[in-house]
Parts: sequence; C-alpha cells; structure tokens
Amino acid sequence: MCLIQKDLQAGKTMYKLMEQLYPICRSITGNGTRKTLKIISEYIPLMIHEVATGTNVFDWTIPKEWNIKDAYVKAPNGKKIIEFKNSSLHVLNYSVPVHKIIPLNELKKHLFTLPKQPDVIPYKTSYYAKNWGFCINHNQFLKLENGNYEILIDSELKKGGLTYGEYYIKGKFEEEVLLSCYVCHPSLCNDSLSGVVLAVELAKYLSCLKQKLNYSFRFLFIPETIGAITWLAHNQQKIKKIKHGLVMTCVGDSGSLTYKKSKQGNSEIDQTVISVLKDSKESFNLIDFFPLGSDERQYCSVGFDLPVGSLMRTMYGKFPEYHTSADDLNFVKEEFLGDTFSKYLKVILKLEENYGKFTSKNNNKIIRKNKKLGKNDHVFLNLYPKCEPQLGRRGIYHKIAGQNQDLVKEEAIMWILSFSDGINSIQDIEKISKIDINVLMEASILLCEKNLIKEVTN
Ligand code: ZN
Repeated sequence: MCLIQKDLQAGKTMYKLMEQLYPICRSITGNGTRKTLKIISEYIPLMIHEVATGTNVFDWTIPKEWNIKDAYVKAPNGKKIIEFKNSSLHVLNYSVPVHKIIPLNELKKHLFTLPKQPDVIPYKTSYYAKNWGFCINHNQFLKLENGNYEILIDSELKKGGLTYGEYYIKGKFEEEVLLSCYVCHPSLCNDSLSGVVLAVELAKYLSCLKQKLNYSFRFLFIPETIGAITWLAHNQQKIKKIKHGLVMTCVGDSGSLTYKKSKQGNSEIDQTVISVLKDSKESFNLIDFFPLGSDERQYCSVGFDLPVGSLMRTMYGKFPEYHTSADDLNFVKEEFLGDTFSKYLKVILKLEENYGKFTSKNNNKIIRKNKKLGKNDHVFLNLYPKCEPQLGRRGIYHKIAGQNQDLVKEEAIMWILSFSDGINSIQDIEKISKIDINVLMEASILLCEKNLIKEVTN
C-alpha cells in the first residue's frame, strides 16, 4: 500500500469525522440518526427525508421511533455498574422503557455477553420484538453478586418517523451510480461508520468534478435493511436509471480488500472493481454474491436484481471485533480509510472513462433458461420479489440469537427467497449455496406454507 498525499489527506479527514460521529447512539430511527445526518450535512448538501411510522414499504411497516435518554444498572450496594453514558452499546438497541428492582436471576435473563470474547461488549438489537436488555462484557457478568438490582432504561417508543439522507450529483447523463451506506449502528467504527465517512469524502470529491461527470451519482445514508427497503419502495421510477452500485461498509481495518460481487456476477461494476483490484498488484479477496450481509440483499433481490456489489476490506462477520465494543476508533486507521478511498475513486473514474462503451451480457451463472429440468427438480417463484419479506412477524426469523440448526435454516430461507425467480431450481440453489438439499427443501416447504413462494411447473 503506497498512498499519495491526496488519499492520505482523505484518510485523515474521514477519521476526524468518524471521531465526531462515534459517540452518538444511533438506531434505525430516532434522534441519533437525525443528529448524524445533521453533522453530515455540514459537509455535503444532504436532502433529509422523514417517512412516518406506520407507512407501508413493500412487505414492511415503518416502526415506532425509538429514543433513549439514559440507562443504568445499580448493584445491591447502590453503585452504578452499567452506564449507558459510558457506551451506547450497553443497551439492547430498541429496548422498551423499564424501571424496577429485580433479583440477579431475573436480571440475567436480560443480560447479553460473549463468553468467547470475555473482554468486549456485544452489540445487540431487538427492533421488531419488544424486549429490554443490557450488553456487558462476560468478565463483569461472572462477578455479579446475588441481591437486588435497580435497573433503568429511560427510552421511548412513539409515533415518529424513519430518517434518511440522500445526496444526488447530476452528471451529463441520467444513468446513475448508487453509493449506499448505513447510519443505524451506534458506536461501531469499521462496520457502518467507516462506510459513512467514505461516502461523505467521495461525495465531496465528486461534487467538485460535477461539470465533468458522465454519470449522475446518488449517495444514500440510510438505516440498514428497513432504510434500503423504504428507499426502493418510494423511488421505483428511479430504479431503472441505476447502472452500477456499491454498498460501503467495513472499509477502515488493516485487512486486504474484499469484493462481494453483485448477484449478476459479471456486470460492469463487477468487472470494473475486479480490474482495479488486479491493477493494484495487492492481494485481495473475491466473494460470490450470497443473500446475507448488508443492503446488497435488497438491491439484488429477485424483483430488482440491480448490479450492486460491495467493496470492503475485511468483510462483516469475518473479524473478531465485528459487532462488539472492540470495533472502535483504535481498530480503524486513517491509512486504511485513505487506501479504500483511493480504490473507490479508481473504480468510479474507470466507470466514467468507459461510459457508453460496455456491452452488457447478463451472465448470471446459475440461470438455466435452456436447460431441461430433471424429474425431481423443484422450481419456486418468490411471491414477494421486491426486497425481503418481513420474516420476523411470520415467526420465521430469530429474535435476538438462534440455535445453530435454526441459523442454517434461516440461511436456506434467504437463499431460496433470493434465487427463486421461477427459473432456478432448488438443485441449482444447492450448488451455489452449498446448503444440504434436505434443509433447502424443508425451508421451501415452510416458505410455501407461509405463502411467500409457490412451486412452478415448467
Ligand atoms: Zn452491522
């Protein structure tokens, strides 16, 4: 990695903004996200949208807005031993308000820890299942003494809205490049915030090039999942203009770059990112699309299938600091942010250079249009093709954490929903997902029962 002055400077600026945003307690709705967007709009002229609680967006409904003022746990000796003001991760995100005195065994039902990483606080959420809880490090958990604990979560769930930010740079043409990041994570740096500060820096840079750009650029600062679903639901007329897209997250750690391809697999954005990574002569990882992860799940859902990939450093879930208090300001470094900025810029400039030259051939590798189906093949059609259906309210998605077997089945559910376009068979999905066919069949039966997919006969 050899950074030129411009990229180093970008890394410094990005890190500074991250320091400013890090302490804020964000969520999928509420004042933390508003405050974050307000700070971002000091750097770029962000359009801020509010979508009211109760609004339907495809299969989902905008939830009540969540805000929190304070939270703590007082030990039997009266000393505060867990304090929200020390870390926004201490509270189960979206906790309902509570104030009572309870014995230790009752409190333990609401404490979340990571026994295998006893020094860190886990990040946990419960957006759609009413609950309350505290997240602490496991060492502290082991030292808790018997007795009565005073617990307070001074939070509020009320009618309000979901807030997101959008910045559009008009190029010479209407065709768009979508750059999407998420602003819903509280104090976490590499996951979420690194993508946000990268988006701001790129937006600043591209707005100076405005007169010269062929493509128009759309930056989205949205809460993950529900925000992407909301934007897609409210902007269906704009979707056909999106020619390329990237989801930005996990871009500030020391790992080498990782590209998760779009579902199309061989679109211009896929080829462009891969060629930039090859040209860098540095090692990198290439990953085929899979229907878990971030907002690429929604952009690449059956009903949209947009060419949106994700260029990261170490992928979410693959670094031990992920979703813990160790994903902090020490974990992310200016130089890595700067390096990722330079790679993104190269991708963008290459897209610009090749504007109008690329002849697309959809190369979705499991498409089987001309292939005959075997006697035992099953083909399903997703009846909710635009974004994911809300599985939680149908009782088929984990609330906070699930058993291993359930997780495999959940994965199977996601694969079937994402690839059941009426053409791919379960056997095709088995090949690319590497999930046991029996688990896939079990999941597809469940999805049929819930009227989310139906079997089609070719
Ligand atoms: Zn995350």
